[in-house]
Amino acid sequence: MNDPSPLYVGQLNTPDRDAARREFRTIFERRFYTNHGPLVAEFERRLADRLGVAHVICMTNGTVALMVGASAAGLTGDVITPAFTFPATVQALSFAGLNPVLADVSPQWHSMTPDTARAAMASTSSRVAAIAPVRMWGRFTGEEEKGFAALANELDAALMFDAAHALGAGEGDRLAGGGGLFEVFSFHATKVLNCAEGGCLTTNDDAFAAAVRTAANFHDRPDDVDVPLRINAKMSEAQAAMGLLGLDALESVLEANARRYAHYRDRLDGMPGIRFVDHADTLVSNHQYVVMEVEERFPISQAELMQHLHNDGIIARRYFYPGMHEAPPYNEQDWNVPVTDGLCNRVLQLPSGEMIANDDIDRVCRSIEAVATRRKA
Ligand SMILES: *Cc1c(COP(=O)(O)O)cnc(C)c1O
Repeated sequence: MNDPSPLYVGQLNTPDRDAARREFRTIFERRFYTNHGPLVAEFERRLADRLGVAHVICMTNGTVALMVGASAAGLTGDVITPAFTFPATVQALSFAGLNPVLADVSPQWHSMTPDTARAAMASTSSRVAAIAPVRMWGRFTGEEEKGFAALANELDAALMFDAAHALGAGEGDRLAGGGGLFEVFSFHATKVLNCAEGGCLTTNDDAFAAAVRTAANFHDRPDDVDVPLRINAKMSEAQAAMGLLGLDALESVLEANARRYAHYRDRLDGMPGIRFVDHADTLVSNHQYVVMEVEERFPISQAELMQHLHNDGIIARRYFYPGMHEAPPYNEQDWNVPVTDGLCNRVLQLPSGEMIANDDIDRVCRSIEAVATRRKA
């Protein structure tokens, strides 16, 4: 028997090949490769429509969109953001000149809450200029958003969301995108909508949108306004072409994601020692990630289970490891984030996305089951 092919975490969706050929031919025929081209404009229009926000500004990736947004907002001082997140969240805020203050997260949903953000204020001595929650695993609730808005209002701080996980996620008929001063999405290859690299900033604030458009371009456009700093953050036409093809396929991608997720849940939910993290029952999820926790009573540790899965060709990942509180330069300070600490040693991401079939999911779950039935050493 051949070795089965390795299974990876990450959506890695590919567009329809014929449509892609047609779309890219138009770019070459037009010889308009970048600088606010027609495909970027169309992509922005269609995203604004899909998300129900006034302004979408596409940029070269999600990290840069967050950096440009924080800079264009003209903020200085502390920003409260979770320790349990992808490095880009915290790094982009630092790059924009803010001072990240790391908050702990909820043990249930893995995201910073208004309460954990408030608790983190004990670690700050200067003014809190901004609060930057992450819509972790695409979870979005109106109630949590209201809590953040109230805290931001009380502190006279800006509210910005890292919604890199949350494209198409929401509650009822409200989707992520219109929260706070702005939200940022990622169109990285591993995300549900992919431009290979890409991202956007969304806002309902007209004046702020003009500032972001100015800040994201080096110089000299007709609608320029005053901003603290400018940089080249433009999205190219090739990226926008990928994005438009991805938007065409988005509904079917989301449906297939939901089916894969349900298959995982059927097999893993209730397995002793495994906690399947599931917020999809009551909320609209894009099922971008399949997240589980390896509990204390499971026969082996998270790191050992990851190794066991890797040996079976299942490239499960520890998102996020290490936590930002242990990553330089942020580890120069001591942070009080015990929940994050625990999650870094419990959470595993399982293979997901277009390349994963139900048989593959069965293979992953069999591999986990084979250990689950062992006696704890
Ligand atoms: C992917 C991701 C980013 C970064 O987006 P890029 O487009 O890769 O720069 C930021 N924050 C979170 C939480 C992410 O998962």
